[in-house]
Amino acid sequence: MASYEKFIRIGIALDPIHVGTGGARIGRVDLTIVRDPVTQVPKIPGSSLAGVYRTYVAMHYEDQRQQQIQQASQSGQQASQSGQQASQSGQQASQSGQQASQSGQQASQSGQQASQSGQQASQSGQQASQSGQQASQSGQQFQGRQKPYYPDCAGLGLDANRGHCRQPDCPVCTVFGFASGAGQGGGFAGLAAFTDAHVLLFPVPTRQGPMWVSCPMVLRLVGLEVKGVEDNAVYLQSGSNNQTNNQTNNQINLGWLLLPVKTCAQMNTITSQLQKSWGIPDYICNRLALVPDRLFAHIVNSNLEVRTSVSIDPATGAAEEGALFSYEALPRGTVLVWEIIAKNPAHFKIGGTPITLGAAQAPTAPAGAAQAPTASAGAAQAPTAPAGAAQAPTAPAGATQAPTASAGAAQASTVSAVANPADVHDVTKQAHPYLEHLGIGGMGTRGMGRVKVIHANQSPSNQTSNQTVQCNSAAAGQTTSSTSQGGGQP
Ligand SMILES: [Zn+2]
Repeated sequence: MASYEKFIRIGIALDPIHVGTGGARIGRVDLTIVRDPVTQVPKIPGSSLAGVYRTYVAMHYEDQRQQQIQQASQSGQQASQSGQQASQSGQQASQSGQQASQSGQQASQSGQQASQSGQQASQSGQQASQSGQQASQSGQQFQGRQKPYYPDCAGLGLDANRGHCRQPDCPVCTVFGFASGAGQGGGFAGLAAFTDAHVLLFPVPTRQGPMWVSCPMVLRLVGLEVKGVEDNAVYLQSGSNNQTNNQTNNQINLGWLLLPVKTCAQMNTITSQLQKSWGIPDYICNRLALVPDRLFAHIVNSNLEVRTSVSIDPATGAAEEGALFSYEALPRGTVLVWEIIAKNPAHFKIGGTPITLGAAQAPTAPAGAAQAPTASAGAAQAPTAPAGAAQAPTAPAGATQAPTASAGAAQASTVSAVANPADVHDVTKQAHPYLEHLGIGGMGTRGMGRVKVIHANQSPSNQTSNQTVQCNSAAAGQTTSSTSQGGGQP
């Protein structure tokens, strides 16, 4: 099995995203976002992604654990109730036996026997009731995992008491690693590696409505090698877009930047790959614009969302003096791409034990809970009263139904959190609904940060073959309408 598998993730910003540099800068805005030092294009650092993924995955498994606790508690209570019913049935049997005893002196001995049997039935019922209560208690205590995933396994895990659990059956600690605790062994780097998230498609206002801008440099990240995008121009798909461009003297503005329009002869190849392989919606792919790499950073940085905020002085209800600040963000609709590299768990050990073997002492169901007896043994022996005596009733059906408490208590067994790279990837996927609703980056409660992750039906993308696309129409051997539009020969 491969040592690793690579998974490409595509996300669309549902809100502006502000992943800040953590400090102020002298310039246009106070709170800047992280940029690639070479291209100057904003990005989301892989460390930010990893931290947010970790927190959300821990939240997911904690939600799941709480549900299991609730279910175990409920099935325990049901066992307890059934036990009480069994006890009551036994008491009824006892009373009937005593009545039998009183009536009919000749039947006295038989009646006393019936009475004793009834008392035995009652005792059995009470035992059933106690077992049921034990089952209920153990259900409430939940013999599965005691330590919460969240917040313990989220975060840095440096707190001695509430730090990472460090167990091989913990999906959070295995996939995201754990810190070396005080007096414990070393840390573990984790099985999932996150790259920075890069801007793949960037929405820009034009007089034709919004367009999503990309460039050869970033399309390479999704396996597209685009050639022929070299002039200071906007390369569009030939067709409907182009006809409208005719009316505007074959130029279009990307933000404030006015550029000549050219056509990309093989734009269809790009759009179909973005749609089919990566699941990027039509409304974006149909409005694709390519620019050369050198223009991309200018266009992105000129069209970031910039917000200005001010604190409100509670005493006056007006703006607080000196509390004005501005911050920038990737705008809503930005399409980001990042990679998750899933290492093979079979190559790693925690505390000397292979991760794939799981936890050594996974708790099993407590002895008491599993032994909740059916009350039938004693109760079923309540004899029918001999002739002449009132009939000692057989214990009613209810008494035999004391359930074993298995449903809640038996669920724990030895589990390894992850067995292969696909499992590692599956764990990270649990964070995606949270990313879509709780978001990433700053100002999360101020209309910022939500990212919708697209799940195209892609397997690990190791085998994704690179595709070469030729945008230069002459080189592609296709004479398109672009040559007759006076946009300049390539
Ligand atoms: Zn853990």
